Amino acid sequence: MKRKRVKELLENQVTGEKVLVKGWVRTKREIKNVAFVALNDGSTINNIQIVIDINSFPAELLRDITTGASLAVTGTLVASQGKGQNVEISASEIILYGKCDPETYPLQKKGHSMEFLREIAHLRFRTNTFGAVMRIRHAMAFAVHKYFNDRGFFYLHTPIITGSDAEGAGEMFHVTTLDLENLPRTPEGRIDFEGDFFGKATNLTVSGQLEGELGALALGEIYTFGPTFRAENSNTPRHLAEFWMIEPEMAFWDINDNMDLGEDFTKYLIRYALDNCREDLEFLNKMIDNGLIERLEFVLANSYMRLTYTEAIKILESSGRKWEYHVGWGRDLQAEHERYLVETHFKRPVILTDYPMSIKAFYMKQNDDGKTVRAMDVLFPGIGEIIGGSQREEELDKLTRRIEELNLPLKDLWWYLDTRKFGTAPHSGFGLGFERLILFMTGMSNIRDVIPFPRTPRNAEF
Ligand code: ATP
Ligand code: MN
Repeated sequence: MKRKRVKELLENQVTGEKVLVKGWVRTKREIKNVAFVALNDGSTINNIQIVIDINSFPAELLRDITTGASLAVTGTLVASQGKGQNVEISASEIILYGKCDPETYPLQKKGHSMEFLREIAHLRFRTNTFGAVMRIRHAMAFAVHKYFNDRGFFYLHTPIITGSDAEGAGEMFHVTTLDLENLPRTPEGRIDFEGDFFGKATNLTVSGQLEGELGALALGEIYTFGPTFRAENSNTPRHLAEFWMIEPEMAFWDINDNMDLGEDFTKYLIRYALDNCREDLEFLNKMIDNGLIERLEFVLANSYMRLTYTEAIKILESSGRKWEYHVGWGRDLQAEHERYLVETHFKRPVILTDYPMSIKAFYMKQNDDGKTVRAMDVLFPGIGEIIGGSQREEELDKLTRRIEELNLPLKDLWWYLDTRKFGTAPHSGFGLGFERLILFMTGMSNIRDVIPFPRTPRNAEF
């Protein structure tokens, strides 16, 4: 017989049918001569109830059916007598695949702390919370591809190992096959990468954008969706050393088109989650964050507030708040400032534009004022920055001058500059941090709990 998933059985509810189901025991309780087992196979947050006539099965088998054990159950799907479910399975045959020792299985009790579950990240998928988060994460990844595919964007795979250090040094992980115990040196005493695998210094990428631009300036609209790596030593609930980023890049789009895309795209993803992940969202809304669904619906119902960085600074300066980090024109905004604008002042997502040139990357399009660039950051409730993007500088001389001013390695960027030499065109794009999106969609409070295996300073277990 072909196995049916719990999700399907609970949805179809064709009673009287003989079915085969496989999964892991969540709970077992016995009343008189009957055992009730809640079985979960990961397909849904809900369990299916297995009803077992104790007299029809060996006592040894029944004893081994404990929380965490893995079973195959054949039986008849019947209308349930009890509350909480419409159907249950009256078991006729049970195979025990794997026992689960109650003495040592760490997931006995309910209500473990997130910190504890991080230490057993190899098993935490079996909890309701992580099951819900991972199913939502999957749905969001699928929706990202669907959104762009439906709109004629091409998925471009940008490299993970990169020879460019474009965003500025200091935050990258080196990739090398050199013998770290015995590093070759140049006559000047520097590390000699000539003998390294690629014959030059290489790193893990911090962003696929620069390569994405090359694709966009030929294919029109592209997006990347891949892992990125930042060796920033920031131990915050919103930073990972390895995270996934979605980076659309569009030829002939200006900053306003870019903002429209950022708003439409995030709203599409929220709508998709509400339509396709209802049960998981309701679970998280009940157990993790009571404001979750309301917040998702609220963001959908309102347009994002758009204003310039300069206007935002004025609002922050006249707020009367005491800030941990000083506010002033020319300084970068911290999460506390971003969240004040979103959660207290405007009470909806905010798109800030036209940041000071000095705090943004070299490739952003320079405004005529000579001080600001055509950047756009999208700020979300509970998160702060979720998207960072800009219109790109398409003029070769302005771009070259900026690279020189910042002392970036001009000659390493020859390929990037070629796009400005040969048929340059206005273009724009942004980066959306996938885990920040999942934080928002799930109401989870720590970014370590929305990725299967978090990588953070001093932690690379599993
Ligand atoms: P932040 O100021 O929050 O560190 P950033 O300015 O460094 O962000 P960008 O370089 O613009 O961010 O990256 C684009 C997006 O990637 C951000 O808007 C955010 O959603 C996400 N992001 C950036 N750094 C991280 C990180 N360390 N972990 C997870 N997501 C990140
Ligand atoms: Mn950062």
